[in-house]
Amino acid sequence: MTGGRLDVASLAAIDVHVHVHADTHGHLALDDELGAAAARYFKGDPYDPAVPDIAEDYRRLNMAAVIFTVDAEAATGQPALSNSEIADLAAQHPDVLIPFGSIDPARGTAGLKLARRLVEEHGVRGFKFHPSFQNFVPNDPAVYPLYAEIEALGVPALFHTGQTGIGAGLPGGRGIKLRYSDPMLLDDVAADFPGLTIIMAHPSVPWQDAAISVATHKANVYIDLSGWSPKYFPPQLVHAANRQLKHKVLFGSDYPLIRPERWLADFEKLEIRDEVRPLVLKDNAIKALGLA
Ligand SMILES: [Zn+2]
Repeated sequence: MTGGRLDVASLAAIDVHVHVHADTHGHLALDDELGAAAARYFKGDPYDPAVPDIAEDYRRLNMAAVIFTVDAEAATGQPALSNSEIADLAAQHPDVLIPFGSIDPARGTAGLKLARRLVEEHGVRGFKFHPSFQNFVPNDPAVYPLYAEIEALGVPALFHTGQTGIGAGLPGGRGIKLRYSDPMLLDDVAADFPGLTIIMAHPSVPWQDAAISVATHKANVYIDLSGWSPKYFPPQLVHAANRQLKHKVLFGSDYPLIRPERWLADFEKLEIRDEVRPLVLKDNAIKALGLA
């Protein structure tokens, strides 16, 4: 154990969107073609940190990180990184890491049991979904038992929304369908599971107005601001973040493809009201993640 308990009062910020790209044996979350395409899309250097590297990076910044992989094994054939290994490694760094799990909805009933085990035995604090990459429609009733289980476990569900770097620039986008990441599909889920906290990830290009509407209308829906440098945020998102969504928007980077240092430097220059900045950087996450 490297650090003490999570002490939210002393943290500078909470990054709610951090990807684990590799396990400690060097297995990667994305196959080579998808990994290279994502790095090109984000114009970054390939960097595939494992959990201990992430802990070190965030401890240096005095920030906590919500970490996860994406289990898209059924759609891609790429074996998923182990959720329990990620959570157990995160437990060695409880001062900076907050583990989420990822369950491919294609796992069916086995996925329900896995969700419960991850929360109750491995300290997982939420779940990440990527409907385009995992190839499922978010409001498909077949996925509802999994949402019901997550709602009963009392932890949030974070969904990728909008365009994705995964498959970008490849023929047919490698078969990945953007439509499944339309945030309006999550409006159904939010309505049908009022006790489930939903975090819609990213500026939802090209559906930004829909995302703002859903987050404005549904008390249980938040927006994370990861995946785009703040200098490219759609103006209506900045407008809403300063006003009706000031308690609903969360700092997220999309590390390692976007580093928190870069995101924060660009956020500094964004026209966000002074009293809203601490809400975005930390306070809203404390509420959405149930850390209070
Ligand atoms: Zn993501």
